[in-house]
Amino acid sequence: MNNKQISFEFFPPKTPEGREKLHETHRQLAKFQPEFFSVTYGAGGSTREFTRDIVFDIQNAGSCAAPHLSIGGDSKDAVLELLESYQDNGIKRLVTLRGDLPSGMGGAAQLVYANELVAFIKEHFGDTFELLVASYPEIHPEAESYEKDIYWLGEKFKAGANRAITQYFYNADSYFYFIDQCHKAGIDKPIIPGIMPITNYQNLVRFSDSCGADIPRWIRQRLQQYGNDVESIKAFGLEVVTNLCEKLLENGAPGLHFYTMNQVEANAALCRNLNLGT
Ligand code: FAD
Repeated sequence: MNNKQISFEFFPPKTPEGREKLHETHRQLAKFQPEFFSVTYGAGGSTREFTRDIVFDIQNAGSCAAPHLSIGGDSKDAVLELLESYQDNGIKRLVTLRGDLPSGMGGAAQLVYANELVAFIKEHFGDTFELLVASYPEIHPEAESYEKDIYWLGEKFKAGANRAITQYFYNADSYFYFIDQCHKAGIDKPIIPGIMPITNYQNLVRFSDSCGADIPRWIRQRLQQYGNDVESIKAFGLEVVTNLCEKLLENGAPGLHFYTMNQVEANAALCRNLNLGT
C-alpha cells in the first residue's frame, strides 16, 4: 500500500474529558502515519469552536488536520472569519460540504450546496486550501437521480475541488460501478472510499438509515444473530471490513478514509490487518 494514503476522521468532543481522550486516540492513530486527520463540523455552526480547537490541537501535535466546513445557516462573514483563522494557522486542506442542519435548525436556514461553497472558497482564498468534497456510491438520499448526483459531483470538481471522499458502503461493486460512471461523466479526480468499521449493530443501523448507506442482508443477518455478543460482532466486522479494504486497494482505490468514531481499537486493527504499520 506504499503509494496509497490513508486518513482518519474525528468528531469534536464537547467536554474537556472527551477532548483529552481524543488526544490519546490521535496519538495512537498517528502511528499509522496518515496523510491527515479530518474533524467534522455541525452544519449551522453548532460545533464551530469545538471543530476549530481540535483541528489546532492536531496541528500542534505535529499532524496535518483538515476541518470539515459548511455554511449551513451561518453568515458568509462568519465563514470567512473561520477560513481566515485556518489560513493563519497553516491549515492546508478542507472537507467542504453542504451539511445537514441539526433538527430544530431547519426552519429559516438556507443550506448552501457544496459546489457553491467550493466556488466561494476559491473566490476568496484561491489555491490556499486543497478542497475535498463528499460523494455517494450508493447515491445521496435526496438526489434527484443517480446521474444527477454524479452531475453535481462533477460541478464540485469544476468549481475547484481536488478530491472526493465517499460515504461509507459495504459493497465494493457499488464503489467500482460509481467510479466507472464518474469516468464516463468526465470526472477524473481521485475518489477515496470512506470506511466505517463495524463494532456495534444498533449504531450502524441508525447511521446507515439516516445517511442512506446500505447494509447488505448477509451482514445484517450475521450481526443480528450475534445479539449482545460484542466480541463476535467486532471479530466479524473486522473480517468483513478488512476484506472490503483489500478488494478496494487491489482494484485501484487511491487510498482509504476511516470514519473512526473517535475509537482506536477497530481502526488500528484494520490498519494492522492491511499492513499499514505498527
Ligand atoms: P451537496 O454536494 O451540496 O449535495 C446535496 C444534495 O443536493 C445531493 O442530493 C445532490 O445531488 C444535490 N445537489 C448538489 N448540488 C446541487 C445544486 N447546486 N443544486 C441542486 N441540487 C444539488 N455532515 C455534516 O453535517 N458535518 C460533517 O462534518 C460531514 N462530513 C461528511 C464527510 C463526508 C466524507 C461525507 C461523505 C459526508 C459528510 N457529511 C457531514 C454529511 C453531508 O453533509 C450530507 O450527506 C449532506 O446531506 C450533503 O452534503 P454534500 O456536501 O454532499 O452536499
